Amino acid sequence: PETITVRELAEKLNRNPAEIMKKLMGLGIMAAINQTIDFETAEILAAEFDVAVESEKTEEEELLQEIVDDEANLVPRPPVVTVMGHVDHGKTSLLDAIRKTNVVSSEAGGITQHIGAYQVEIEGEKITFIDTPGHEAFTAMRARGAQVTDIAVLVVAADDGVMPQTVEAINHAKAAGVPIIVAINKVDKPDANPDRVKQQLTEYNLVAEEWGGDTIMVPVSAKTGKGIQQLLEMILLVAEMRELAANPNRPAEGVVIESRLDKGRGPVATVLVQKGTLRVGDSILCGLTWGKVRAMVDDRGQRVETAEPSCPVEVVGLEEVPMAGDIFRVVDEKIAKQVSAMRLDEKKREEQAKTARVSLDDLFKQI
Ligand code: GDP
Ligand code: MG
Repeated sequence: PETITVRELAEKLNRNPAEIMKKLMGLGIMAAINQTIDFETAEILAAEFDVAVESEKTEEEELLQEIVDDEANLVPRPPVVTVMGHVDHGKTSLLDAIRKTNVVSSEAGGITQHIGAYQVEIEGEKITFIDTPGHEAFTAMRARGAQVTDIAVLVVAADDGVMPQTVEAINHAKAAGVPIIVAINKVDKPDANPDRVKQQLTEYNLVAEEWGGDTIMVPVSAKTGKGIQQLLEMILLVAEMRELAANPNRPAEGVVIESRLDKGRGPVATVLVQKGTLRVGDSILCGLTWGKVRAMVDDRGQRVETAEPSCPVEVVGLEEVPMAGDIFRVVDEKIAKQVSAMRLDEKKREEQAKTARVSLDDLFKQI
């Protein structure tokens, strides 16, 4: 859809097609009059004639107006952290240890509920941890274009060192442009060798600060709790440098962390609010589905009425179960319904096209 033929472009620019083709050649593109060129090329070309091009908005884009936040309305928000690393290096143990020592509040019986993410508070500052299997969640979400993480904590077991999934995790974080803090775990073990880990990591351009580099590496033990406080402080330090901020006073937007079908409550999704404030009663468009937020529950199992940026909450009220990585946004109920229907239609059409192709292929195979 984002293409135009040379002839059409010439008409729009009020120029002779030959002139357009000549300019295209100047850009190293040989195109005949009926050939199509992509939007970027058309843009460059039009600029040569002092014309600005705008790509036509899709029906969906027309319905969903983009909200641009004024710098003046941005307020600091907690960092969102993902824990990554090789299997058995202690990701789950570390997340558990962090949660136990620093859960936001210990009243109300201190019942913690697994909703796929949780917040801790140290020295009055919050940190949000994504609690789902780091790796998968991270890749699934990135595949959908959802950027969820502000900081990656890379767990490396001090007795095992850098392993294949350690390297994978480094690559994912780097590709996403997310800063890495290294937690050298299991330092309580007799055969722990943190220096060897530091040495190995230099091969991936992660050089410890104490070795003249700029990567923060903290020795920790998820078992004894050693170093965990320091790790949290380092996370806050990195977060502060990044100046993370969002506008809480606008319709909410964010991403689905986890989802499931609950027997009693229907579709349930843990979402991370990234912009704005989500409220009970809001209508949301969420991936292919939509719904009206009937209730929200936080990571301590408490019902809440609102959720601000970087806050994870479980949402009840969606029509269908969305997928992890789906983006949600608060919109007018009518628009939510309409766009959801459009997206479902589009998906159905894509699937039918696929089926049609498959059966044609089968036909040719038989011949
Ligand atoms: P994950 O696969 O990365 O989530 O790793 P787990 O958290 O499941 O830990 C794997 C194993 O290492 C478990 O048996 C943990 O008890 C153990 N473990 C995790 N952290 C530590 C630690 O700091 N010290 C010791 N000694 N064992 C640990
Ligand atoms: Mg685990």
